Amino acid sequence: MLYRKIPGNGDKLSILGFGCMRLPTREDGTIDEERAVRQVHYAIDHGVNYVDTAWPYHFGQSEPFLGRALSDGYREKVKIATKLPSWMVNSREDMDRFLNAQLEKLNTDHIDYYLVHALVGDLWDNIEKLGVAAFLDQAKADGRTINVGFSFHGAGEDFKRIVDAYDWDFCLIQYNFLDEKNQARTEGLEYAASKGLGVIVMEPLRGGMLANPVPPAVQEIWTEAPIQRTAAEWALRWVWNHPEVTVVLSGMNQETHIDENLRAADQAYPDSLTEAELQLVKKVERKYRELMKSGCTGCRYCMPCPEGVNIPTCLETYNNLYMSGNQNEEKFLYAAKLSGTLSTGAPEFASQCVKCGKCLEKCPQHLGIPMLLEAVVEDLEGPDLEQRVAMAQQVFKRE
Ligand code: SF4
Ligand code: SF4
Repeated sequence: MLYRKIPGNGDKLSILGFGCMRLPTREDGTIDEERAVRQVHYAIDHGVNYVDTAWPYHFGQSEPFLGRALSDGYREKVKIATKLPSWMVNSREDMDRFLNAQLEKLNTDHIDYYLVHALVGDLWDNIEKLGVAAFLDQAKADGRTINVGFSFHGAGEDFKRIVDAYDWDFCLIQYNFLDEKNQARTEGLEYAASKGLGVIVMEPLRGGMLANPVPPAVQEIWTEAPIQRTAAEWALRWVWNHPEVTVVLSGMNQETHIDENLRAADQAYPDSLTEAELQLVKKVERKYRELMKSGCTGCRYCMPCPEGVNIPTCLETYNNLYMSGNQNEEKFLYAAKLSGTLSTGAPEFASQCVKCGKCLEKCPQHLGIPMLLEAVVEDLEGPDLEQRVAMAQQVFKRE
């Protein structure tokens, strides 16, 4: 296992972090605790020292699971990361209430890496007004948290202002070879690192989409490489190749994947991919973009839409639906993201489009946005949308 340092505090973190969002489950959907504990212990025994969870994962069961899994001396071997559910916070008191409950659930007296969860611009504005800076200062001063950061799913322009708004120790961003221009972007990664933040990366495989299943046309390109690696290893190695990245989180729930990731984490030095390998990844990226239903890059130039449609997120989910083939997950994510459940905002569904055409001239890819949105409605809305929104509100419960 290789380790990289968090710039501000010198902590040596394993470049592979264990994500507890997609633990193995039983048929009834509950965590298969025996197997999951074995996997967490195995990863730690093989050098992983960063474990990431959050309040809503596994319907609230991920944190207490991890608390139990880290008994028997494992707690001292790892840094725990968990997150303040920012969309559920209505007051300064809520922040303390969540953190104190999380310490109890995790059976620990401190959180090593505490994040304000899933920020987008308006959520940040809201939680900032509620006094999150004073809360984080206090939580650090009284030792309940050691390092504080934020995780981010918003637009690139909001990322920089959040980085600048507080003296963060680290941040957590979605980053992979298809998301260089999406969310925080490469620009955001470099900006955060230039400000001395440790950068943890989530979704290196874009929710598994880059590894399973691999479209045959993509696999053909991977096969051209002189060194044979799995699609997952290529995607991970590409992220680790960035010296600005400290840890890459992987939601590992199959023993073979854990072994594969551990092996890759033994060799993934920064800047270790050759120019020819980087070109190969570029070729794969281009192929994925050809296979996508829309060529949206997530640049957001088309925004804002006067009717409130979140065009890039609608198109991203639409692409993912076809590339991952995971209908249930993408349909659920569409309901959760576009209903405003994960922000303080109003609904942003594709069906709100009135075809005014104002977005058309702003799109550098010249996409027929209103027509694409019609297809999004067809594939991702439908009669069960309300039910999915209700389920999302239950999972990401507001109090
Ligand atoms: S065409 Fe639709 S998506 Fe585009 S700006 Fe008008 S309402 Fe918004
Ligand atoms: S629809 Fe066009 S302008 Fe809007 S995010 Fe996608 S590529 Fe950018």
